[in-house]
Amino acid sequence: MKINRHFDEIQDSYLFAEVENRVAAYKKKYPEKSVIKLGIGDVTLPLPPAVVDAGVRAVRELGQSDTFRGYGPYRGYSFLTRAIAEYYARRGIALSEDEVFVSDGAKSDIGNILDLFDSDCTVLVPDPVYPVYVDTNLMQGRKIVYADATEANGFLPLPDESRRVDLIYICSPNNPTGAVYDRAGLKAWVDYALDCGAVILFDAAYEFFVGDARLPRSVYEIEGAERCAVEFCSLSKTAGFTGTRCGYTIVPHALGNLNKMWLRRQSTKFNGVSYAVQRMAEAVFGEEGMAQCAQNVAVYKQNAALISDTLTDMHIYHTGGINAPYIWLKCGMDSWEFFDRLLAKANVVGTPGAGFGRNGEGFFRLTAFNDCQSTAEAMRRFRRFFSA
Ligand code: PLP
Repeated sequence: MKINRHFDEIQDSYLFAEVENRVAAYKKKYPEKSVIKLGIGDVTLPLPPAVVDAGVRAVRELGQSDTFRGYGPYRGYSFLTRAIAEYYARRGIALSEDEVFVSDGAKSDIGNILDLFDSDCTVLVPDPVYPVYVDTNLMQGRKIVYADATEANGFLPLPDESRRVDLIYICSPNNPTGAVYDRAGLKAWVDYALDCGAVILFDAAYEFFVGDARLPRSVYEIEGAERCAVEFCSLSKTAGFTGTRCGYTIVPHALGNLNKMWLRRQSTKFNGVSYAVQRMAEAVFGEEGMAQCAQNVAVYKQNAALISDTLTDMHIYHTGGINAPYIWLKCGMDSWEFFDRLLAKANVVGTPGAGFGRNGEGFFRLTAFNDCQSTAEAMRRFRRFFSA
């Protein structure tokens, strides 16, 4: 059997499994302890009511012969691509509807877009990073070079003009660091990509968490980005769709053949998102849906702010937590050792930075996806832990 040997180059994805194993072993030994999880990368609040209502209505339509629907359009139903284009228009970005592609989430598109690029491309990935960017490229045998994100650059690396690359990954707000590029930072990347003839793969999965109007939520806020960037977005964290599954990708016509190629790719390998889920996604972009999503995200943002304020108060270096659901703190020791100590002494769980790349060592990720009471209790425990 001739299998894809590039799979030998990817590491086992043991990060979250190992976290779970260690927590389970601790709970088995100390069943009386209440452990608080701030490692969760999944939403915890239910779907907004406007979204649920839209889903119920859509399912009923599917049960009637005059409103039944089968396969939908490859790009997504026009009621949804229009709603997404209008969402961008409200933020001053003009898109045509056929630059919007609906999918079952950002992760699939981030992996699948690589069908459009030669395996010979050199890929620039920040370190630390959302591991999907690295693994999807390694699986196809591409060469990866890293942009170091460190305390020195606030975990927001800028281009190294002496290096030429073909594909550039940018995630802002960032997972795992919560750091967000300002317009000048993103402009530097756009200018660099235009100069290299590279394509930016911009992951905007957390754009809805950006509250500061000075910070860009879309790469297309930067002049020239439509000529060099594809943008991935997701309703997972915006609207609680991690289980429901819906996202979208913007492939501008100004990117030459890529828009046509992506449609060709999708129509060959993908048969779309279910009608009911697309109706639920449409409801996200309505006035009521947007307000309800903002209410849910405000809960996570309140948790993030509490974590960030607590760390600031304790003079612990960290990024994120203001315009992102992630807080990335300097633990100043082996990140797995910190994980074990925090679990044993404070009964709080986070994610060791080493799991996100070489530069993640010495750092630790906390997330805002728990309830307010548990997050507040975790922060009380943090204070005791650090003052002990
Ligand atoms: N991009 C980033 C940076 C993420 O952190 C995640 C999920 O954790 C995704 C994409 C995946 O989003 P989706 O649920 O839409 O596949």
